Amino acid sequence: MLDEIIISDKVKEITKQAELEVSDIFKKIDEECEINSIKVLNAFKNNRVSTIHFNSSTGYGYDDIGRDVIERIFAQVLGSEDALVRSQFISGSHALTVALFAYLRPGDLMLSISGLPYDTLHEVIGIKENNSSLQSFGVKYDQIDLINDDFDYDRIENYIKNNKVKLIEIQRSKGYSTRKSLTIDKVEKVVSLIKSIDKDIIIMVDNCYCEFVGNKTPIEVGADIIVGSLIKNLGGGIAPNGAYIAGRKDLVDLAGERLTLPGEGREVGPTLGINKSILQGLFMAPSVVASSLKTAVLAAKILDTLNYKVEPKFDENRADIVQNIIFENDKDLINYCQGIQLASPIDSFALPEPWDMPGYDDKVIMAAGAFTQGSSIELSCDGPLRPPYIAYQQGGLTYDYGKIGVMNAVERLINRGE
Ligand SMILES: *Cc1c(COP(=O)(O)O)cnc(C)c1O
Repeated sequence: MLDEIIISDKVKEITKQAELEVSDIFKKIDEECEINSIKVLNAFKNNRVSTIHFNSSTGYGYDDIGRDVIERIFAQVLGSEDALVRSQFISGSHALTVALFAYLRPGDLMLSISGLPYDTLHEVIGIKENNSSLQSFGVKYDQIDLINDDFDYDRIENYIKNNKVKLIEIQRSKGYSTRKSLTIDKVEKVVSLIKSIDKDIIIMVDNCYCEFVGNKTPIEVGADIIVGSLIKNLGGGIAPNGAYIAGRKDLVDLAGERLTLPGEGREVGPTLGINKSILQGLFMAPSVVASSLKTAVLAAKILDTLNYKVEPKFDENRADIVQNIIFENDKDLINYCQGIQLASPIDSFALPEPWDMPGYDDKVIMAAGAFTQGSSIELSCDGPLRPPYIAYQQGGLTYDYGKIGVMNAVERLINRGE
């Protein structure tokens, strides 16, 4: 195995040509990055952030002023009334779980309107049997699938007119599905419809991978609560772990009571020295998301030039940072993912192989040479070994490293693993 990155003149030339053809899109990404950066900076200024907020608390974590200011800043940046931002959330999936258990009570009905939710939620909801699922507590679940990559507005309207729904879940990013991710315009349209029929339904949005893509959050178009992971977009590659729940104050408070304990809620939760990393991560996040978007656009353009199907296309309106490449054969998918891993800063000497993963029926290949375990705001690429052999690529802490990763993957792809 090579211990140096070597890119052929052919791949350099394809990349250079692709960069020329996407320059207008890069300009738009830069403009959005500037708007989001101003939003972040204003939130820091309004909250008078100072080095005293880099304080650390231990034990119960009472009176942690850094933690409190972080939550006010996240709320402001996300356009929400309040936010819960904690390292006690193990992951985005954990935050989604805390939110669902906070809002749903025995006998309540939860409805997903974006089809089957993210894989890790199947046992949480009870779609797959588990003795601790929502279903085991008597919470009912139903779902309405998307049609043509958009909400099934008629069925949704009919359903909520005829059933008392407590909570509607919308998952914007596609997960491991073949659908398109849901843009903010579609979310706005369906939220207005739901609210016009029953304004008491809690609309909860799984916002993973979508933060700072565009300038509007689901909260700003009427959703009640949004959830996301800090080892994705808003952590900026710096937050070591954690997740957030943001939106209506009463709902954020309920999530706090569920995360810790009723009666102590948000008042407890030691920060153990990570306040500075969370603040710095949010500060970097607009430009890290922009780098990820540029890396995705570049990959879409290059792979399209090489006659592979890609989703979204390089010039399509994006809802998230995920880029699909539809390889249509296992060898190409494996080679591409291996090329990404071999151009990673961490474990660049390890060649990933398809592997059995808990919760998946097919073998999965994963390239994740990341500083933070499981971080997918860092350049990463994975895919289940089943037709049509789709790679799910996302992240890129800087555009240069993203571009080098893509070039190396393309090199391995066209040299057929040599
Ligand atoms: C990443 C992701 C999650 C949460 O994943 P974790 O790995 O648990 O942080 C949930 N939903 C979607 C759509 C995601 O992309």
